[in-house]
Order: sequence, then C-alpha cells, then structure tokens
Amino acid sequence: MNASTAEPFRCFIVRQQSDGLFGSAIESRGLGDLPDGDVLIRVVFSSLNYKDALSASGHPGVSRNFPHVPGIDAAGTVVESRSEKFEPGQPVIVTGFAFGASRWGGYAEYARVPAEWVVPLPAGLSLKESMIYGTAGFTAGMSLEVIAHHKITPSAGPVLVTGASGGVGSIAVALLAKAGFEVYAVTGKASAHEFLRRLGAAGFLSRDEADDRTDNPLLKARWAAVVDTVGGNILNTVLRSTRPFGCVTACGLTAGVDVPMTVYPFILRGITLAGIESGFYPLPRREALWQKLAGPWKLPDLESLATTVPLDGLQERMQAILAGQITGRIVVQP
Ligand code: NDP
Repeated sequence: MNASTAEPFRCFIVRQQSDGLFGSAIESRGLGDLPDGDVLIRVVFSSLNYKDALSASGHPGVSRNFPHVPGIDAAGTVVESRSEKFEPGQPVIVTGFAFGASRWGGYAEYARVPAEWVVPLPAGLSLKESMIYGTAGFTAGMSLEVIAHHKITPSAGPVLVTGASGGVGSIAVALLAKAGFEVYAVTGKASAHEFLRRLGAAGFLSRDEADDRTDNPLLKARWAAVVDTVGGNILNTVLRSTRPFGCVTACGLTAGVDVPMTVYPFILRGITLAGIESGFYPLPRREALWQKLAGPWKLPDLESLATTVPLDGLQERMQAILAGQITGRIVVQP
C-alpha cells in the first residue's frame, strides 16, 4: 500500500488550553502530521499505562511538547518502511523509547517511528495479546528476568507483588505463579481478590499491612523476592521484609517517589534492590524477552486480564488509572 500523505486518520490529541490545563479530543490528521521515521505503522491496538495518563495530564516528566498524541505502546502492521528489516504487511510491536512521550505515540490509527524502536511480533502472540502485555507486561517480564538472574527459585520461599491489581502487578502475579512461585499480592482493592486468585495469587495483604511506619531497621523476613510497582514507604517496608539474599525489583511510584530507608537490609541480609527501566531496554534483550512472553512464559488466558476501549473511552480510563482504580489491563483500539 502506498500511503498518501493526505490520507486522514483519527487520533487522540492532548493540548494545553488557554487556562493552562490540559484537555483531549479525537481529531482527524494527515500522515504528513506524523513525525519523521523509518517505519509507518497502521496501529491496530495500543494500551493504557499509568505513564500515558501522566502524559495526557501534561506531566512535564513525560511529555513537554503539545499538541501531543500519547500512547507508549502500539501493535500493528507495517505500511511503509525505509529499513530493510521490515516490509509492508509485517506485524510489529513498538513499546517504550520516546514513543508516546516526547514523540507522538499509539493513540492514533497510524504511527511513524525509527526502525530501532520496532520489534517484529513474535510467533505465538497476536497483535491484541501483545498489547494486553504492553509496557506493563514487558516490565513485569523484566522483573521476573531479574529474579531469575539472582537464582531465586520457588523453593526459596513465597514472593510478593505490590500494586497487584494494576497493569504491571497483575501480570507479575500471573507470570510468577506460572513459574511455580507461591505469590502474595498487596492490593488496596478487596474487590480484586477473586481476579488475582484466578491469576494465581495464594494470599493477600492490604496496603496498610505492607506499609510499616515503625523505624525498625529490619522486619520479619518473609519474602524470597518482591516485585514492587508502587515505591514510597511500601518499598521501604518490603526491603525490610525480604529474606536473606533475596531480591526486590522497583519499577513504579504510585505510592510515592521518596523511599526512606537504611543500609541494614543490604548489609545485614544481603538484599538486592534492582531498578527496572523498560523504556530504553536494549533491542536484542527486548526482542529476547518478547520471545519469552510469547513462548515459554506465555500466560494461558491473557484475554481475561484486559478490557478493550475505543479512543473516545480513553479519557475516563485515564482518570481511573491516576486514581489507582483500574484492575488488570486496558487495551485501546484506535
Ligand atoms: P496501574 O495504575 O495499572 O497500577 C498501579 C497500582 O498501584 C494500582 O492499581 C494500585 O493497585 C496501586 N496503587 C495506586 N495508588 C497507590 C497508592 N497510593 N499506594 C499504594 N498502592 C497504590 O499502573 P501500571 O501497572 O501501569 O504502572 C505501575 C507503576 O509502574 C507506575 O508507577 C508506572 O509509572 C510504573 N511503570 C514503570 C515502568 C518502568 O519501566 N520503570 C514501566 C511500566 C510502569 P492496588 O489497588 O492493587 O493496590
């Protein structure tokens, strides 16, 4: 297909209004409005991540140039490619890098990106399934890779996931359970227990139970590993509750960016605190992780994790994700 630069398409555009606040609308644009890049993609699915809601609310740590099309994830088919690696009709995934952050992203019928951001859709995964994972699932997968790298196996003891009903958290629960771990889930939503149990959670902690405000340098050592998606004092608490030589992965900030802590978990229990950054994960490792998510790690019932919304259902879901009210994953169908 030869895409005419005049061909109009729909997108979800965020603008700064005259009162300084940010508002969104569904608008029609031409292909000539897209940023330059090697690969033009017809977007079939995108997804909603916490970062997308930050971008759409004008958070300067994510997006500074407006009008802006958010959407840090997209899956679709190649329309045109200046790179020999891709050919028209090929199914592909784009997640992370500057996509949907400083560059226009996946909340549009078309996206144009540098070839080095594009991953061929791995065999075993549909376009929709790839977006049920999206950045959230990819981040959960990175957390699992780090835990495996530290040689922590199910025999080492139970593991904990915080923010468990959210995107990263719910997929982390399911991936860890599939890998044979006894998984405990921290959630603020009693209504999500049944959903998390279906994903494989063996038990639950409330957010208060995972938020120790004492100044005890160490707490009872319970967890062989922790996937923390919320930060703040909950991250401080889980560091003090992890078993000797255990590993805590940290990717998120929904409970806060400040983490008060001491050195004791590190020097008395040998705990590893591992940072997770999915956006600029190098391409060869990125492709290898997608292969795992599509193959040996593939979750059996991905569809049960997701709700699908059109572009005009996004604004409402963005408010909900900022309020911590989403359970599972939201797939976006432009
Ligand atoms: P979601 O909103 O889907 O999930 C976050 C979950 O955190 C909520 O569902 C809720 O779960 C819990 N939560 C919300 N507010 C609070 C609070 N005040 N205190 C404690 N827990 C809270 O977001 P995502 O899963 O998309 O992202 C999770 C985090 O990870 C975000 O901070 C995001 O920016 C970050 N992230 C980082 C990446 C990286 O590469 N470093 C990549 C992807 C995400 P519950 O109700 O079950 O407690």
